[in-house]
Amino acid sequence: MQYFVLFVFGSVIGSFLNVISLRYKPNQKLLNKKIIGGRSHCLNCNKKLTWYELIPIVSFLLQFGKCRKCGKRLSFQYPIVEVLSGLIFVFVPFILTNNFQFTFSNNFQTALIFCWLLIFSLFILLSIIDIRYSIIPNSLNLSLTVLGFVLIIIKFFYEKSYFLNGYLNNSFLGHYAPVFGLERNIWFNHLFAALVGLIFFGLIIFLSKGKAMGMGDFKLVFGLGLIFGWPDILMVLLLSFIVGSLISVFFMIIKKKKMKDPIPFGPFLAIGSFFTFFFGYQIIDWYFKIFGL
Ligand SMILES: [Zn+2]
Repeated sequence: MQYFVLFVFGSVIGSFLNVISLRYKPNQKLLNKKIIGGRSHCLNCNKKLTWYELIPIVSFLLQFGKCRKCGKRLSFQYPIVEVLSGLIFVFVPFILTNNFQFTFSNNFQTALIFCWLLIFSLFILLSIIDIRYSIIPNSLNLSLTVLGFVLIIIKFFYEKSYFLNGYLNNSFLGHYAPVFGLERNIWFNHLFAALVGLIFFGLIIFLSKGKAMGMGDFKLVFGLGLIFGWPDILMVLLLSFIVGSLISVFFMIIKKKKMKDPIPFGPFLAIGSFFTFFFGYQIIDWYFKIFGL
């Protein structure tokens, strides 16, 4: 029952993220009246959606993925984002507590869960906007930076209680974290990670004369460093570059992009973050076992 409620709630948030990202235009505020207000309508024929057409996922299936009036195919972005968002709202609490039976009675856990749900919602939003317009709005990067500081403060005050299962040693890499020189001072750890990200991306921007990476990515990696800390930021960066290269090669093979075409990097950082959060420990465990360590 609890999973179901979380899933439905997450998919409603996902449908909201869809609306924001589709109504967004570059160089305007992310949350203005035009974006938030107004009933949802078909982007093709402007038909206002009735209440049952607003139900996430279900409405897409009921309408067979088409507008009822003009028959225009609806973007697959709708159900994909809604399902993804629903799953995130189910599994973020699971990872952070290693237990579905959390009760929201532990303030530390509740605050942590709330922060991470917000972070993942922002990841989804910035990925869609970056794919559509090749920019990452400053307001999103700023929000992620603020959330990074909020996470540090939460951990700082609840240091004793954060040795939770699956979230050992303040790292998603669990007992492997000390191998990379885990710094136990929360502030030092997270600021150091942010600095490493900035230097690394700064070098790439400098060496490629701004062609490989933009300022949006530069700001994003600072926020990610604050959020993930050391050594997790290493895995975020590594995974995002691996996924980024694979997808770029794929696009070149199917001839959709040329070598020179810029590919937005924000979504790859979001994917790297996603895998570090959910599978960081499994990935590093698998890696070390291959080499018999
Ligand atoms: Zn229509």
